[in-house]
Amino acid sequence: MPADRDPNQPLLAGLIGDPITHSRSPMLHNTAFAKLGIHARYELWPTSALELVARVDSLRAPHILGANVTLPHKIAVLQLLDRLDPAVEMIGAANTIIREADGSLTGANTDAPAFLASLREDGVYDPAGQTIVILGASGAARAAAMALSGAGVARLVIANRTIERAEALLGDLLAAADSDPLLFALPPDDADLPELLAEATLIVNATSIGWHDDQSPLPAGLIPPSALVFDMIYRPTQLLRDAAACGARTLDGTGMLARQAALAFERWTGQSAPLDLMRAALHS
Ligand code: NAP
Repeated sequence: MPADRDPNQPLLAGLIGDPITHSRSPMLHNTAFAKLGIHARYELWPTSALELVARVDSLRAPHILGANVTLPHKIAVLQLLDRLDPAVEMIGAANTIIREADGSLTGANTDAPAFLASLREDGVYDPAGQTIVILGASGAARAAAMALSGAGVARLVIANRTIERAEALLGDLLAAADSDPLLFALPPDDADLPELLAEATLIVNATSIGWHDDQSPLPAGLIPPSALVFDMIYRPTQLLRDAAACGARTLDGTGMLARQAALAFERWTGQSAPLDLMRAALHS
């Protein structure tokens, strides 16, 4: 933690994005600060694109621990930071900024390890050797795809409305992969998708479809009953209801959300995060 600061002033972390009024991050982090007796506070920092440079610069102050970054700044923020974790370079998006002791700023992505940990621990699923379909090709999908590629997936299908984004992700995966998974980029209405879905043991919704209404990114009839369906959205969704109705196993995004927060907390404080407590705070 920064040593050159007024000890009476609380340390601060916060969320940079727009809009962020409904974020649960303050509840998660303030619960953890209180549990560990850290004199710190997590705040919401609504920030427009025009305000982003000044906001990021303000993080260099001694009483700042760091920040989380959400839409629409996860990519734009990269060029404002002093260094990026290798995973950020691969994924192309940061969701966490760490203020180092010298005031410099490091970009990290805790979505990718949080996704993988939730999949393994909450979903009891090992991606090695599996066929997996990801719906979406933006920041969250990129984090999931990079994590799965590093975990030895055999076949990875990226289905996205804007096919160019799926193809770009596929190119980046090929460039970054240690292993050699079979990769497919498809639009969601591609004639080959039903067959690939039928062979999948995991389907990941990394689109934003499901937040505001009863829409689903996938027709119920295409969900394989033997698959695990992981919806990154952290509330009950139509996709998960359809998956449960056909007998598939389901996992929502709350485990991933708590874990990405816990990993950010650990980078800021150097202390172990109370994950179970943070997770419980999500439901309070
Ligand atoms: P984003 O940058 O807004 O990407 C949205 C994705 O959804 C894109 O692939 C987009 O396709 C697709 N999409 C949106 N509306 C669509 C529509 N009407 N029809 C078809 N496709 C549509 O969001 P993100 O940051 O990657 O996050 C994606 C989701 O993951 C969000 O729901 C977010 O809340 C969730 N998430 C959860 C966690 C967690 O910890 N649980 C962490 C990160 C993100 P196009 O490319 O064609 O626009």
